[in-house]
Amino acid sequence: MPSSGPRTLHASRAFLVRTSDMGEADRRITLFSEAEGTVSLIGKSARKSRKRFGGLLQRYLLLDIHWSAMSDRMPVLEQAVLVASFWEIVEDWEKVRHADYLLELTVNLFPQPGPKPKAFEALFAGMRALALGDNPATIVLRTEAAMLSIAGWGPNLSGCKACGTSQAASFRFAVSEGVMACASCPGGSGTPVSLGAVKTWRALQSSSPSILGRIRIAEPILSELQAVVPKYVEYCIGKSLRSLGGGQHG
Ligand SMILES: [Zn+2]
Repeated sequence: MPSSGPRTLHASRAFLVRTSDMGEADRRITLFSEAEGTVSLIGKSARKSRKRFGGLLQRYLLLDIHWSAMSDRMPVLEQAVLVASFWEIVEDWEKVRHADYLLELTVNLFPQPGPKPKAFEALFAGMRALALGDNPATIVLRTEAAMLSIAGWGPNLSGCKACGTSQAASFRFAVSEGVMACASCPGGSGTPVSLGAVKTWRALQSSSPSILGRIRIAEPILSELQAVVPKYVEYCIGKSLRSLGGGQHG
């Protein structure tokens, strides 16, 4: 096969999402990177030796990765350096399954290559909050709302799709349209959401990750949003992410 272009070198901060065996010796490594979004790289000899790449090919570590690419073959991981560890996640199964969900959520919401600084910042904030011991369900909800908005999925929560009111006591959210209708307007079916829940969701959509971490969500509102936001996530990415199992996100 003729060579189709020079070898290019790339570097970015990244989180490892998953790995799988590739042949006898190598591993295929999927990461979410700040500079180029989701990337799949070959880790040469990473199957043969866990010490390859300094033993850093694990989740919940913020890595600085360097890789090389040629246009007609799979890019190759050259180096991984530890930037920060969120290893506290490993000590708690609840944190693990929520962290794994956030990683899968990110690569599924942002499958296209290219710089993803905002999505990366949201993932980073979610990982750090999990490691620090904030409530995992709240962290996941915050991150879901922020990432949907960053990915361009909205949804449009400005008001009722029919009459435009933004202040009705309650709305029904139509998952398959990403719009809501107020209780006074005919709008067919949809998941009920109170004005308080809508206001919280709006705040989560429009806030930077540093502010997101400070938004407190009262238990009834959390429950309401957990009944609708994950469903909308599923609709947007076209599949169910299984990391959270049949629990509150089922
Ligand atoms: Zn209306």
